[in-house]
Amino acid sequence: MRPLLIAGNWKMHMLREEGQALVAGILAGAAQVPAERELLILPPFTLLVELGARVAGSRVDLGAQDLHWEESGAFTSGISGPMLRDAGCRYVLVGHSERREHFGDSGVVLWNKVRGALKAGLRPIYCLGENLDQREADRTADVLAAQFNEALPGLSREEMAQVTLAYEPVWAIGTGRTATPEIAQEAHRLLRRRLSEGFGEEVAARVRILYGGSVKSENAVGLLALPDIDGALVGGASLRVESFLGIATAGA
Ligand code: PEP
Repeated sequence: MRPLLIAGNWKMHMLREEGQALVAGILAGAAQVPAERELLILPPFTLLVELGARVAGSRVDLGAQDLHWEESGAFTSGISGPMLRDAGCRYVLVGHSERREHFGDSGVVLWNKVRGALKAGLRPIYCLGENLDQREADRTADVLAAQFNEALPGLSREEMAQVTLAYEPVWAIGTGRTATPEIAQEAHRLLRRRLSEGFGEEVAARVRILYGGSVKSENAVGLLALPDIDGALVGGASLRVESFLGIATAGA
């Protein structure tokens, strides 16, 4: 009922030639990936237009790593939702922990970005997750609830059904430490319950919750088999064809 989504967050990597080569490899190997799994790449802004043209009509979807919430205007350096749609994007990340930490994204900014994305017809992937201190202080459930409440309440059920969540424990991002299947499943179960309380059973059953944090093909098998894990948001391992496709085919 919820097809797995394997999303590659390229972060601030890849010049044009490298990006073209990576996409060529993914497109060439995509047939190995079971048909019911969906593939998504999230390149930097500079590559969106040309890679959008490259993946158009293929089974690889395109998304961006951030957006400005306004449609247009005097916001030097901003990239709006309609611009991302124009470049061929269907998805956009909102609230990645690196945006929260290095760019101060929180509160009203995230609230507006989710709405700006939806207004432009994009599907936001809303990221949330606790840091190590919060986990060690046994505050994970409270942190997830607070981050959920920062941006999602007030959406209609139809709007929420367009959103994907990504549980990304900060201590697992880029560190080589992955959440155990038990830790990940527990966090995803909490998020699913929150969806159900806020938006009803039907929406909770439809919304995908991705896991992110040092996903590799070896640990993806156990994670993707869990009932509340509906895919992976992959950073480092999405920068090489073999490791990205290894995750996309894991356990199939
Ligand atoms: C990420 O940045 O979303 C991420 C999960 O990175 P990594 O896979 O490198 O931990």
